[in-house]
Amino acid sequence: MAVDRTDMRIIILMGAPGAGKGTAATRLVDRLGCRHLSTGALLRESVENATEAGREAAVYIEAGNLVPDALISRMVVDEIMSGDSGLFLLDGFPRTIVQAEILQQTLASVGSSVAMVCNLDVPRDVLISRLSGRLVCPRCGDGYHVVTLKPRREGYCDRCDIPLVQRDDDTMETIIRRLSVYEEQTAPLIPWYEERGLLWHVKGDRQIDVVVAEIAEKISEYVTDDSL
Ligand code: AMP
Repeated sequence: MAVDRTDMRIIILMGAPGAGKGTAATRLVDRLGCRHLSTGALLRESVENATEAGREAAVYIEAGNLVPDALISRMVVDEIMSGDSGLFLLDGFPRTIVQAEILQQTLASVGSSVAMVCNLDVPRDVLISRLSGRLVCPRCGDGYHVVTLKPRREGYCDRCDIPLVQRDDDTMETIIRRLSVYEEQTAPLIPWYEERGLLWHVKGDRQIDVVVAEIAEKISEYVTDDSL
């Protein structure tokens, strides 16, 4: 029997590297209690566990390139289809038009669709300064910044109380590469989702609490059923 996912609501968080997708997603999940998938985190976990997919993805991630569409789409579809329906927050996927098409077809095949796409708009100089000063918790994945988003205890995660680290792909060379990959391959998704009436822009270069409150309010306007 075909799986019925008509009550699944997919919300996509889009934005350039450093736009704050991960930080906003973590806080939205705390607030809304919804399911969440970060493809960057999923890939880093696969690399760490040296799975077959992880070994294939590692080369691309290290160079600041996107991993192949087929590989990441397979992982995302498996995650979406396993577990409960309801509200599902996607962060870092899709990143190409091919991925968006795969997502659309997969959701259509189970009677669902993307509910809304939130694009975090952040100027390039702010992205570079955020990425180059970013620290992350190796356990929970929460992000901090050496100047603008300091942890309570310097160098330690507020949640896990273990030392924060810099991501391997947050070196200046890889940051510049990731930003140009974003412009070439991911930014075309903005008009793609705009044409479908799904895109909503949020100014992402403000205090994270303000950004999150705005997104949460918008999500509750769009998703007015009992999945919230
Ligand atoms: P992020 O943590 O979202 O910045 O992702 C880190 C890296 O994982 C990216 O630079 C890509 O190499 C890879 N990645 C994450 N999501 C995707 C995706 N949807 N498509 C292809 N590569 C991805």
